[in-house]
Amino acid sequence: MKKKVLGIIGGGQLGRMTVLAAARLGIECHVYDPNPDSPAFQVCAKSYINKFDDQKAIKEFSSNIDGALYEFENIPINTAKLIEKNTKLRPSSYILSVSQDRLVEKTFLTQKAEVETAKYFSINNVEDLSKSLDLLNGSGVLKTRRFGYDGKGQIKIDKTTDINKALKSLKNKELILEEYVPFKRELSIIIARDHKGNSQIYDCVENKHKNHILDLTLAPAPMLSKNISNLAKSIATKIAENLDLVGLLAIELFELKNQQLLVNEIAPRPHNSGHWTMDGCITDQFEQAARAALGISLGSVKRIFDIEMKNLIGADIALVKNYSKKSNYKIHLYGKKEIRKDRKMGHVNKIIKP
Ligand code: AMP
Repeated sequence: MKKKVLGIIGGGQLGRMTVLAAARLGIECHVYDPNPDSPAFQVCAKSYINKFDDQKAIKEFSSNIDGALYEFENIPINTAKLIEKNTKLRPSSYILSVSQDRLVEKTFLTQKAEVETAKYFSINNVEDLSKSLDLLNGSGVLKTRRFGYDGKGQIKIDKTTDINKALKSLKNKELILEEYVPFKRELSIIIARDHKGNSQIYDCVENKHKNHILDLTLAPAPMLSKNISNLAKSIATKIAENLDLVGLLAIELFELKNQQLLVNEIAPRPHNSGHWTMDGCITDQFEQAARAALGISLGSVKRIFDIEMKNLIGADIALVKNYSKKSNYKIHLYGKKEIRKDRKMGHVNKIIKP
């Protein structure tokens, strides 16, 4: 059998874990990232250390692979389109463009996929903000439409907020105002879909954050009602079908008190809340993303262990010494040289139930 080559755009920990999973299937990975210290470069077959807008390098990268995926969303859309000219990009550049802009994303979710989200308004100036806040009883969450992550680029607004200052602090970029959702808890669900339209959905999980950064994932989500579990699956299916997804897609959800789910956002890539699948499922999310990108049939997402995934953030990396002495913890480190506050250094999967 001819060896397959997967191209990965982005060399962070998600890229690195995709390389490692793909290697188990005998797949060779080429990774593209402008940062020479990218964790995935330590494990891949070929590194492209070039800027994302370097057309010549992108052309060479995409002409020598059998398919590509991206591990983060903040790559220029024209780069994605250029890659698509030479090879299959899965998920597609269209899906990437939807996920890059919160307003486009919310419009897609509500109008096309017909799933529920928090109420939202497009905000371009102080008049828009003032009018929209009136419709939300004076409170909401103001977010930049693009390039937000881990709670960055967003502010909670209430009646005491100086809205001119709030706009200024988000640098008066294109914004979206969302209704503040008094959720019971945060859930997420990951779906994979192949080029023939077959899909596989991982168990819905609960996510707990610290300082807006994912801290813990409980898999499966404890005490999840059958209704909510089915609703989460049907939301994932509707979104995947309406996007014509080929590849992997994570969906972040808010669970409300009245058995209702709202979609917060989507991410067309392996997701931090799916790291539990590395030790909890027959096929983990990284292998699944690689399979879908290369047109290999999807693997089983059957859960073989219940898992509690904990992120090791910044100085938490020192805890590895303790975890390594325990028999029910699986350690995954990302090979990052420098420890920084809020930097994801690794994670551990605690195996709860054999
Ligand atoms: P995001 O970047 O949109 O995923 O938001 C980061 C975190 O902020 C989420 O995981 C929630 O904890 C919180 N958050 C975001 N949007 C809302 C909202 N509309 N209502 C309440 N909390 C929110």
